[in-house]
Amino acid sequence: MWTQKKLERLGRLWQKRLRIQDWDIKYELVSTQWVMDAQWATAQVDAKEDKRYAHIKIVEPSVVQNPFVPYDFEMALVHELLHVVLWKLHTTGNTAEEVAIHQLSQALVEGYNE
Ligand SMILES: [Zn+2]
Repeated sequence: MWTQKKLERLGRLWQKRLRIQDWDIKYELVSTQWVMDAQWATAQVDAKEDKRYAHIKIVEPSVVQNPFVPYDFEMALVHELLHVVLWKLHTTGNTAEEVAIHQLSQALVEGYNE
């Protein structure tokens, strides 16, 4: 079971690894899934580049129902943090961006946890 405290600790660790310690990131562990683009979402980020502020919402794994792909909490968190890294290049609904970020988050999490 993830707690707000554990989430923040892991988030700060990954901010350091990704060299985005200068961003003020609010981490929010949520206990219910929400609908985004007509799909059940498990994580979401919103950022203000000029203020170097971001807000990451992420679902507690125990409440995730029938995920299409296995839901990996750390990978979901790194995925959202990579959006912060690439925020200047971000465009809404960009599938190529999502696929690239998914692959990178997978490689990074697997690499660090080897
Ligand atoms: Zn994404």
